[in-house]
Amino acid sequence: MNEALSNLDHREKRVVEAIRNLGGEATRREITVATGMPRTVISEVLTELHTRQVVTDGAVVASSGGRPARKVKLNERVGHLASIFVGGFRTRVALGHLDATILSESYFDMDVNVGPTKILDRAIAHIKRLQKQTPGAGELLSITVGLPAPIEAKTGAIVAAPLMGSWEGFDTKKYVSAKLGVTPLVENDVNLIAIGEHHWSFPNSEVLLAIKIGTGFGSGIVIGNKLIRGSSGVAGDIGHMPTTTPSDAVCRCGRIGCAEATGGGWAMVQAYNSSLASGEKPIESIIDFVELCRDKNSRALSIAREGTVAIGAAIADAVSLINPDTVVITGATRNAGDFVLATIREMVYKRAAPLATRDVVLTGSSFDHQSGVGGGLLMSSNQVIGTPIDEDEVQNFYLART
Ligand SMILES: [Zn+2]
Repeated sequence: MNEALSNLDHREKRVVEAIRNLGGEATRREITVATGMPRTVISEVLTELHTRQVVTDGAVVASSGGRPARKVKLNERVGHLASIFVGGFRTRVALGHLDATILSESYFDMDVNVGPTKILDRAIAHIKRLQKQTPGAGELLSITVGLPAPIEAKTGAIVAAPLMGSWEGFDTKKYVSAKLGVTPLVENDVNLIAIGEHHWSFPNSEVLLAIKIGTGFGSGIVIGNKLIRGSSGVAGDIGHMPTTTPSDAVCRCGRIGCAEATGGGWAMVQAYNSSLASGEKPIESIIDFVELCRDKNSRALSIAREGTVAIGAAIADAVSLINPDTVVITGATRNAGDFVLATIREMVYKRAAPLATRDVVLTGSSFDHQSGVGGGLLMSSNQVIGTPIDEDEVQNFYLART
């Protein structure tokens, strides 16, 4: 860990975290209000942070008292963060500032089933290339790897992931650490989307449900500014709840009738390919499938409509259970057409309790492709500067930007 950032005490972390949550740059007055700490303490802490070059001078702004005030900002050269967000078919990589804003990013397409070493080697090569293109970003402080699978919260291990058989038992932390010299945080993909959406798009949401509909289908939950993982790490895994619409489709998890077995991208690709006449070319991924829908391919559209009903039913059940104020839909399938969001809305209003749907905001993400990789940067930012609830809970804690 970087010398300037190691050994930050609790008060210093609170100030640095407040500056991040205020957008990476803030006046003393804003920091005082955000932390609730006395002005004299803020002054003392900022002097120390200046000396250690964790913060630097920011822009000069006019203040209400007439005297201009100088903002303080996080020092961009103190170090950077990295994030690898592995999708069923597309993997995204980003470097970020300490405040979790994205510095540079790239992606590549590779089926997750090729296995962990191929995917991670390629992702690490992307990170190294981005680092070369960004001289002056300082050292790598923390990295988060998001995976489309159930992750055991305590160990970061993938548990029972039928889609990702070759990943099961693989030690992602050890592998990445050996290549980059930093032990990564490992987190479920939709959990990262949930904190990314909450932090950047819905900071005032008290109960947020984030949905990803891509190759797989799942959700992440943020309640009271805290990511809810459940007791072992699989809270929100709604893709494998049985649909209450009758279905005998066999899921990749081995059970029958899961929502994902009809509405998951993998299932829709499978359904489309098995409908082909001989000589027709099969498709490879949800990205191909979405393109067919956009080209108004009638077979693809009919499969997508049926899939979206199953997805909508599962989301409706989740809405009844946790009564969110915000439901944000992300993932490749959303781009299949306007009918996706409309069908999900219709299912939620039809099936969930009226009181649960009265004030709910159900919307598509405005920065789909970045919320997951950005959520990874946010989790890494928390690891470096977050104030833990207790020693073991650095990752869990997450404060909204307001
Ligand atoms: Zn299943």
